[in-house]
Amino acid sequence: MNTNGHDLPQTLLDKLLLDTSPYLSCDECFERLDRYAERVVADPQHADLPMQVHLNACGACAEEAETLIDLLSGRG
Ligand SMILES: [Zn+2]
Repeated sequence: MNTNGHDLPQTLLDKLLLDTSPYLSCDECFERLDRYAERVVADPQHADLPMQVHLNACGACAEEAETLIDLLSGRG
């Protein structure tokens, strides 16, 4: 736990944390990963909060996402 300055809007985070499923499971993350990577490659400004929250918290999925994004970017 560290207090770093992520620029996620606090209200959005609060809302998310109150939700029944604040974080995606790794399975859910993995299911969305293809689409997420495609969108991020197409639009670097693309924001998917649940994905980003999970990727921030989960090194394994973050690595997977990075690999996929690299791959998709490379193919242009
Ligand atoms: Zn994960």
